[in-house]
Amino acid sequence: MISRRSFIAKSSFAVAGVGLAKSGISMSSLPQKKEFPIVISTWNHGLPANEAAWEVLKKGGSALDAVETGVRVPEGDPNIITVGYGGIPDAAGHVTLDACIMDEKGRAGSVTYLEHIKHPISVARLVMEKTPHVMLSGKGALEFALDQGFKKENLLTKERKAAWKKWKKEQREFSAKINIENETELNHDTIGMLAIDKEGNLSGACTTSGMGYKLPGRVGDSPIIGAGLFVDGDVGGAVATGMGELVMKTLGTFLVVEFMRNGMAPAKACEEAVKRIASKIPDYQNFQIGYIALNKAGEYGSFCINPGFNFAIKTEDKTEMEDAEAWLKKL
Ligand code: ASP
Repeated sequence: MISRRSFIAKSSFAVAGVGLAKSGISMSSLPQKKEFPIVISTWNHGLPANEAAWEVLKKGGSALDAVETGVRVPEGDPNIITVGYGGIPDAAGHVTLDACIMDEKGRAGSVTYLEHIKHPISVARLVMEKTPHVMLSGKGALEFALDQGFKKENLLTKERKAAWKKWKKEQREFSAKINIENETELNHDTIGMLAIDKEGNLSGACTTSGMGYKLPGRVGDSPIIGAGLFVDGDVGGAVATGMGELVMKTLGTFLVVEFMRNGMAPAKACEEAVKRIASKIPDYQNFQIGYIALNKAGEYGSFCINPGFNFAIKTEDKTEMEDAEAWLKKL
């Protein structure tokens, strides 16, 4: 089911409209009353993340604070094995994290291949706010985080260590499976979040431990501005999840935002970006990609390759999960 958000001209506009109708000025040419705030995010772990973001938004906090606060929830939860602390390690047993953040002013910050820091999204925010750079990687990102007062921690939980040892013993190859919701097999699922605050400002965040048992050194789409996340304050934002290599090769979220700039609704823009993957990447059917998008007006939508991708929505009167429409089901 594709979501479209409709706006209701609330009473003041409605009353004004009576007089305006007489004066011949059309209601649709007037600014609509926006039903902000709103927050959307990927997968089931989006539900508790949205709640945390909502606490910020409902008090009048900024979208930027909200998305950072929201995605810190799965980052800190060891039971979410695809993000932050407790994430599945790489093939060598190291938990390496990717994250980025972007606001309506076009400011952006990112960290890649970051080890030992539980909340990479907060480090990404400081890269944005305290350095002239957009992206810090590996050892440099860790040193920056420590300089900023973050604590060095062991992110590999007992459970993930045991699962990794078992995986190694079986000499299993890395495989990018799609949407296997069985805990021991699940090997990817980033949280990407987009929010609009009371002021109508839009920000986004994206954070992940990446593909489970990836080759050491691998960095995915999630910390790449324009791939895992893109925000344009004049248009809207998009985030991606799934096999990052496909998103990187097509600069997926930048594409979604450009489609919206050209007038497409968010769901249609996500669909066109999935179709771009389908037209460029021969074996795309074997992988999952899910996009979610939110435009400046507060309309949202999603689309994915394979059925199984869902996302969480929170507004004043809505707390729900929605299944994304899938390209391989539509064919
Ligand atoms: N996009 C992430 C990556 O490739 C994984 C995911 O979202 O499932 O690292």
